[in-house]
Amino acid sequence: MTQRNDDDVTGRIATTAVHAGKHHDPYAGAVMPPIYQTSTYVQATLGAPLGYEYARTQNPTREALERNLAALENGTDGFAFASGLAALDAVLKLLRAGDHVVVGSNIYGGSHRLMQRVFAEFGVEFTFVDMRDTANVDAALRPATRMVYCETPTNPMMFLTDLQAIGDIAQTRGLIFVVDNTFATPVLQRPLEQGADIVLHSTTKYLNGHSDVIGGALVVRRDDLAERIGFLQNASGAVPGPFDCWLVLRGIKTLPLRMRAHCENAMRIADWLTTRHDLERVYFPGLATHPQHALAKRQMSAFGGMISLDLGDAARARRVVESTRIFALAESLGGVESLIGHPASMTHASVPAPMREEMGLTDSLIRLSVGIEDVDDLIADLDHALSA
Ligand SMILES: *Cc1c(COP(=O)(O)O)cnc(C)c1O
Repeated sequence: MTQRNDDDVTGRIATTAVHAGKHHDPYAGAVMPPIYQTSTYVQATLGAPLGYEYARTQNPTREALERNLAALENGTDGFAFASGLAALDAVLKLLRAGDHVVVGSNIYGGSHRLMQRVFAEFGVEFTFVDMRDTANVDAALRPATRMVYCETPTNPMMFLTDLQAIGDIAQTRGLIFVVDNTFATPVLQRPLEQGADIVLHSTTKYLNGHSDVIGGALVVRRDDLAERIGFLQNASGAVPGPFDCWLVLRGIKTLPLRMRAHCENAMRIADWLTTRHDLERVYFPGLATHPQHALAKRQMSAFGGMISLDLGDAARARRVVESTRIFALAESLGGVESLIGHPASMTHASVPAPMREEMGLTDSLIRLSVGIEDVDDLIADLDHALSA
């Protein structure tokens, strides 16, 4: 029998999203990867498993997702985890006591907490710098520096990091360069092509896209990192179940379509917000007034679905987030539905107040995750809430 379905079908990103990672299904020829809801696999004779042994180590549904993620990010190997933070936990376990990491100052609150309140306790040192200026990274390097870690655009300040520039520094110094690509997704930006060694995702967000799974992933294109991360994934065991993997894989099939809608809606809303005179500031990399708009155009194919705005008044910020009807007041982002949040008290409450202040993350800042609803309905909803 022909094995024509054994090879991944890949192409431009919309083709890869739909097809990459599929296995030839020898049992029924199922077009979709089955959910292998099993913890173990039978051995034909002692010491001769049929290909799989134990599901913490390997699961065919998880493998389908991992191969798809690797193809989307143009890496060689993908690894799925039980959450974005479980993926970060595996990244930080590449280090040992005494190692030093240079980190972008405006990272996800939970990532900051895992670094400073868990791994710092084990003797890993972190220096947080404003990565909008590449020189700050250079200045923070020490002999013990092993890793550079960033998000771009950042959450919620929309700071950008020049991936190629940091990638060059990392390569020259032999550092591991890690990029959390959750905000941009591989549809808008592929860090491995710009010098990154590891891409991290919270698949909870845009990749799954339907706000019904917690998941994470790492993608690499270096054999040494693939081997060590595969070891850590199995040794620490923070793996996702097969049904969650199947849901993320199903979500990814529409990722390019959804990202187009998120980006178009966010651009329309950001443009509309700039016409208002009752806002202090609008943060969106697609606006020509964004200080790093030129870099955004260079390293991203579109500008994403996240917008932050500073209302200049904390009490008004509270009123606005409690007044929208379509935008739901909730943590998280990247789902088909629009969400509104107050970073200082929600997603970034675990970031120390002085650090929040330094980066402009004020108590009057609100964040929008723009969904794929009709944009005129979203604008009407915001107009009503801002006028409340
Ligand atoms: C949500 C998020 C994480 C953490 O992912 P979980 O799936 O919630 O563990 C990490 N980085 C970014 C940018 C995020 O938005």
